[in-house]
Amino acid sequence: MAQTTSTLTFRDLEIDDYEKVVEIRNEEVGLHAIIAIHNTALGPALGGIRAYPYKTFDDALTDVLRLSKGMTYKSAVSETGTGGGKSVIITDGKGHKTDLLLYAFAEAVNAFEGNYICAEDIGMSVADLEIVAQKTRYAVGLPHPKSSGDPSPFTSRGGYRGIQAVCQKLWGTDSVKGRTIAIQGLGSVGMKLASYLFWEGAKLIVADIDKTRTEQAAKLFGAKVVSSSEILSVECDILSPCAMGGILNPQTIPSLRCEAVAGLANNQLLTDEDGVELQNRGILYAPDYVINAGGLMNVCIEIEDKGYNPVIARTHIDRIYDLLLNIFNEAEMKNRPTSQVAAEIAESNLKTMKGKRSKNVVFHH
Ligand code: NAD
Repeated sequence: MAQTTSTLTFRDLEIDDYEKVVEIRNEEVGLHAIIAIHNTALGPALGGIRAYPYKTFDDALTDVLRLSKGMTYKSAVSETGTGGGKSVIITDGKGHKTDLLLYAFAEAVNAFEGNYICAEDIGMSVADLEIVAQKTRYAVGLPHPKSSGDPSPFTSRGGYRGIQAVCQKLWGTDSVKGRTIAIQGLGSVGMKLASYLFWEGAKLIVADIDKTRTEQAAKLFGAKVVSSSEILSVECDILSPCAMGGILNPQTIPSLRCEAVAGLANNQLLTDEDGVELQNRGILYAPDYVINAGGLMNVCIEIEDKGYNPVIARTHIDRIYDLLLNIFNEAEMKNRPTSQVAAEIAESNLKTMKGKRSKNVVFHH
């Protein structure tokens, strides 16, 4: 794809193992973005738009490559009939995005002719996504009667079911009652997860760089508040990273004082080696793209021929419990890191085409 519309410029970037990675510019409206399609063997690529003030183009590229590959694995494990893709918009330091910039981005999405379906992600509000959706039909998760809306309640519910699977594996019960769970990040997903855990009797320790959020959790859930730097080393049963990625790395892993890591942030492991290190230290890791697949499972229902149905979404999301328990048991049996076992399941599904979309995608809006 090397073409120019009136002012939109596309530059193909050749990246091994990725189907299509395109740098997009529209100087007039200040758009600089990348759309990455990692794999569409099981269905069209679906993934959020991340708008972030990346310091360099390479930082943005690294992020979009990691995130789009993560979406391939997430879709493959959860059998949503979609493939892996993601996009990033490189914003200015203040995160400004004008309507014209979002329209230009939508025009870029249209150029993929449905091979990339976008949704919200960090830095993109639902209101921003609605603006994008004015110019492209290839957008999902909208506050529209026929759309699935905000994915975070479903992601959080999946996270709760995943934490129950951890409790089952480690302590032989689904109950979180009396367990100490440390949550890093109280945003759309972290706060809702905290609520689920609170009502089921867990003791919470929380951290967020936004003080209003920790104050809210202290008030609503009696949570103990610690600093963002302390949260990764507090003594707890389960650490639940629900903010940014890359936080499980050689600097942080030695100071973890938890029996399990089960959180909703994407790309928690900095490298594959960090998954091995968690196993070496006897820490049970719930692979991020399995435990946080609830939002994807939910949004994918709106592109089925019968349209969105929250009851079906709930049933799918409940599967996260079984998916994780299977991974934990297989990892134990083979004495392998859970991260590797999850990757093998994803790769096997891709190879055997398990979960491949059998019907065309339908946009009901
Ligand atoms: P969000 O922007 O609503 O919340 C992120 C929260 O983390 C904010 O409250 C922010 O202040 C806090 N934070 C940022 N840096 C921090 C730090 N160093 N220490 C403590 N807190 C910090 O985002 P979200 O939608 O809740 O997503 C959180 C994570 O979950 C992201 O990694 C996202 O990719 C992932 N995720 C979200 C969904 C979803 O449905 N929203 C689905 C799958 C994965």
